Amino acid sequence: MEKNNKWLVNMALGHPLVIAGPCSAETEDQVLKIAHQLKGTDTTVFRAGVWKPRTRPGHFEGVGKIALPWLQRVKKETGLLIAIEVANANHVKLALKYDIDILWIGARTTVNPFAVQEIADVLKNTNKIVLVKNPINPDLELWIGAIERLQKVNIKNLGAIHRGFSTYRKSKYRNNPKWQIPIDFKNRLPNVPMICDPSHICGEREGILDVSQTALDLQFNGLMLETHFNPDKAWSDAKQQITPTRLDEIIKILKVRKSSFEGQESKEELEKLRKQIDLIDHKILEILADRMKIAKKIGLEKKKKNVAVLQQTRWNEIIKKSIKKGKNLGLSTDFVKKFYKTIHQESINHQKTKN
Ligand code: PEP
Ligand code: MN
Repeated sequence: MEKNNKWLVNMALGHPLVIAGPCSAETEDQVLKIAHQLKGTDTTVFRAGVWKPRTRPGHFEGVGKIALPWLQRVKKETGLLIAIEVANANHVKLALKYDIDILWIGARTTVNPFAVQEIADVLKNTNKIVLVKNPINPDLELWIGAIERLQKVNIKNLGAIHRGFSTYRKSKYRNNPKWQIPIDFKNRLPNVPMICDPSHICGEREGILDVSQTALDLQFNGLMLETHFNPDKAWSDAKQQITPTRLDEIIKILKVRKSSFEGQESKEELEKLRKQIDLIDHKILEILADRMKIAKKIGLEKKKKNVAVLQQTRWNEIIKKSIKKGKNLGLSTDFVKKFYKTIHQESINHQKTKN
């Protein structure tokens, strides 16, 4: 572990790293007030956006470099480490000049290998901590690619931030968490700490506790939470910011899970349950294979009679029936729908095969 890496030390002790602060630095008084309020909480890193990537023009785009001395003051007065977003070479140069501790690459920048490379080139051989947010689109390779560009210029202190993925159809999330993607990331790069940003996933205050707990249940190493003393009056992302008091409450409610079972007895119990799961998984695969065999037979019949593979009415009936049955068995509608959609796709593939 690198020296001077307070944030990693924090995580190693089994406490999730807490990065908190406003979406945007607005005024010197605003950043100082929030930072002092956060000082009494578990927060160790103060975040603030200096340059804001806005989807449409005409909105507040950040105060720019005048905020950098304000953040230096935050660091001096509170001892919190400072994190800002960088999106181009010039941002990085200024962050280095003002001795910013942690730089994060935003979701709209991770999508662009040119921008990531330009950032990496300026960071080459520095000992900065760099956090890479997932790209706005659900593309694991793009996310990992950005990390690799930084590894290639010898950045050792790297982390990833999961902030959810943009979708055209609005759901209850501003950005869909698609948890499987950060899980796959962790499997591919187990040594890169993973931090969750529930604020940008939720887009509103309500779901933040729940998403934070899910992240900890999935062994995430930290949380990044947008925090403002007067969230409703924030100049950007007002709906999703929470007060430092609420942040403190949330941190106290959250349960940090142990990474493994302790004690011989609970290990044996776990082994027994895992064996049962293995047997059931085996059965599931056999049953699915049987289903596909029948689908194939139906496919041959359809071909003989020149009937289309997709029978929408029949399919809608299956889904309706299955959702109802699933509900009675304690399975969520969403799960049953997704599960059957996958099965259906596989059935169609089997029906289309020649023999
Ligand atoms: C932010 O953290 O304020 C931000 C702009 O986030 P993202 O890149 O995740 O949209
Ligand atoms: Mn924001």
